[in-house]
Amino acid sequence: MQIPKKLLPSDGRFGSGPSKVPHQAMEALATSSVIGTSHRQAPVRALVGSVREQIRALYSLPDDYEVVLGVGGSTAFFDAATFGLIRERSQHLAFGEFGAKFARAAERAPFLGDPTVVTSEPGTHPDAHPEAGIDVYAWAHNETSTGVTAPVRRVEGGDDGALVIIDGTSAAAGIPLDITQCDVYFFAPQKALASDAGIWFAVMSPAALARVEEIAASSRWIPAFFDLAAAVDNSRKDQTYNTPPLASLVWTDLQLRTIHENGGLAWSVARCEDSSSRLYGWAEQSSYATPFVADPGKQSPTVVTIDLEGVHASAVTAALRENGIVDIDGYRGLGRNQLRIATFPAIEPDDVTLLTQCLDYVVEHLDD
Ligand SMILES: *Cc1c(COP(=O)(O)O)cnc(C)c1O
Repeated sequence: MQIPKKLLPSDGRFGSGPSKVPHQAMEALATSSVIGTSHRQAPVRALVGSVREQIRALYSLPDDYEVVLGVGGSTAFFDAATFGLIRERSQHLAFGEFGAKFARAAERAPFLGDPTVVTSEPGTHPDAHPEAGIDVYAWAHNETSTGVTAPVRRVEGGDDGALVIIDGTSAAAGIPLDITQCDVYFFAPQKALASDAGIWFAVMSPAALARVEEIAASSRWIPAFFDLAAAVDNSRKDQTYNTPPLASLVWTDLQLRTIHENGGLAWSVARCEDSSSRLYGWAEQSSYATPFVADPGKQSPTVVTIDLEGVHASAVTAALRENGIVDIDGYRGLGRNQLRIATFPAIEPDDVTLLTQCLDYVVEHLDD
């Protein structure tokens, strides 16, 4: 099936991660002076410093919050947090694949007590509840597997000093955030930040930094790769403990620059809201599509999940792929007849409108 050219978006990458890296950013890499150079020398350290500074500005960080980074992506951070931030017992909200993975990391750690894992039906989210003995509450700001967004706020009535640790991987730069409502906000940049993978960033509050120090000074064995105290130490010098993926740093820096040049977080958040509401609005009008997340307050502005009825999502995504529109299949683990479309800041809102027209075109012509 050939979709008419005038309906095709300017860029067909709508995947939720790895996600679209703008063409200008890909071209900039070709002339970058840091690729292939030492991460211990001034140019790469200046790049790391620039990324850290721009994350600080993005979230208007209080002076005593710090931007920490390390190698390995968000999954590595699940383990780093398990080793270096959970003192004894954690409570996890698991309303999708990624929250569940973090919970599993804590569950398997032989040096921790059993975590509390709170689940809810796919397409919804549970809320954290205060619990004696819990020193870390953890959940995802945006569950990339289901397209559900959950509020970031302190847990009233919990133990003194309990930390709130938020996985912002598919939310960072796309969803409003009051950073003072959490102690750690971590993310990898290959989702909402238009970059590639292999690195994690974590904004840490003074309480989180103190916890890292406390656990590092204890007798717990911590593998060097997951050692947050070493990560904090290196980050303060604009370095990483081991070699970072330089292209990911270059692209993260460029995307943050684009966001700041256009007005900062308010701009990028508004862009995601614009793009996602074009999809939700289209689905509500459509005879064959419905937003999967029923509660508008929980519908993600960065990862839009849409159930299809009377038409196979796999046939639709295959036809789109033939036309260069890729990666909008639903999350496999969810097993639904569903589309999942990223509306990260790097995605053009007008491309989203064109995508809806392509979807209508494909569905209308599937049986031809
Ligand atoms: C993709 C994703 C992860 C895993 O990120 P990696 O960098 O691949 O380890 C974790 N959490 C969320 C919310 C994600 O979307």
